[in-house]
Amino acid sequence: MTTAQKAKAFCVFLLEVKMKLYGRICHDLNNITTEKLKASKPGVANVQGKYICHQCGNTDQTLFFQYYCHHCNKETTYCRYCVNFGKAQSCKDIYIIESKRHRTDGKYRLDFELSEQQRIASENIQRAVLKYEHLLLHAVTGAGKTEMIFAGISAARQKGDNIAVVSPRVDVVKEVYLRLTNAFKDEQIDLMYEGQFAQYNSTFVVATVHQLMRYDGHFNVVIVDEVDAFPLEMDQQLMHTIQKASAASASHIYLTATPNKQLLSQFNHSQIIKLPARYHGHPLPIPEFQFNTIKETKLNPKLLKFLKQQIEHERKTFVFFHDIRFMEKVFNIYRHYFSKIEYVSSIDPKRHEKVTRLRNNEIDIMFTTTILERGITLEKLDVVIVNTEKFNSSAIIQIAGRVGRKIAYPNGKVLCYHEGLTKQMMHAKNEIVKMNRLAFQKGWIT
Ligand SMILES: [Zn+2]
Ligand SMILES: [Zn+2]
Repeated sequence: MTTAQKAKAFCVFLLEVKMKLYGRICHDLNNITTEKLKASKPGVANVQGKYICHQCGNTDQTLFFQYYCHHCNKETTYCRYCVNFGKAQSCKDIYIIESKRHRTDGKYRLDFELSEQQRIASENIQRAVLKYEHLLLHAVTGAGKTEMIFAGISAARQKGDNIAVVSPRVDVVKEVYLRLTNAFKDEQIDLMYEGQFAQYNSTFVVATVHQLMRYDGHFNVVIVDEVDAFPLEMDQQLMHTIQKASAASASHIYLTATPNKQLLSQFNHSQIIKLPARYHGHPLPIPEFQFNTIKETKLNPKLLKFLKQQIEHERKTFVFFHDIRFMEKVFNIYRHYFSKIEYVSSIDPKRHEKVTRLRNNEIDIMFTTTILERGITLEKLDVVIVNTEKFNSSAIIQIAGRVGRKIAYPNGKVLCYHEGLTKQMMHAKNEIVKMNRLAFQKGWIT
């Protein structure tokens, strides 16, 4: 080969290995190589006196701001909602890159057999994915949701469909990514969240829901895990983002243990599948309500006694609080009685380190806000909720769902201290009892 030929071959090589922006919104055409441009439009448009952002679809007028653009020498309007994904502004075009499909054999590995319930769910998901239909899976905590989506993903990848598995929460995204990469060893799976970028061609993406803003008309399957972890008021925007990132033919699969009314109302009866059993075949622990006032100034003998018993029985305890300051004050009383006691909240700079210590068995008692209501699974864990009357039913169900997750220790306590029963508390308990009954009727738990 001549030097020129070598150089050319190298360029072709570079073109082929560079990540492709299929189905994405792009701000600079220098970033694409062999991809085709589908459309270009101004980042922000003014339609009948109202601004609309073409990057994220935002129409909330309070999120549009003006500044003087020195390139165009005029006032320009930009969208603040999606500014982290590159500024969309009225004087500059954004580019929508044509989507592309790529077939694989969709091979995956599963080291155990699915339970009957998981198998039924898996078949339903597969059917919905292939027909581009929507589905809501109302699955109890610990039902083994992730394994239920494998067959559907595999079927879609064999057709060349593009897949996104998303969740509002980063910790859930990371966890799901680990399990998917472990099962689908030959797939090129992109992991995306704030600060973590794609490295492949977006055929199979695991990401926070927000990251879907980068796409337009690309995904044929969007699986939304823990959809209810999103604040309710964000629902509209979330649905919009998913819609915009989806191809004309697309299946949306929602997974949740605590669907809200708004979500339920978007599905008809046949599109909602209830999965009442835990994968290990034991019932959900039922919340136990106890009238007990916890004060920030005084030791509570009942709580102290319970925590001491926990240590004796070699059990771990999460104590949930509704308020960070209150929790810290109460913690200051109890920390003198136990050696391996800690507290954590969403504003704690050491929260990741503390969760790691928790997983490493270095903490017996953890005072916490709802930050630990999802995601973490520990052996021999019981939970206490302080001022349960201040929690909504979803939070109570999620917190109760921490207990008895491991097959070796399927039981445990959900102790709910309260200063007066609420409808939310009763609703949470009824839901759990109902799910257990349903699972029992189906013969899925004993
Ligand atoms: Zn925007
Ligand atoms: Zn400009």
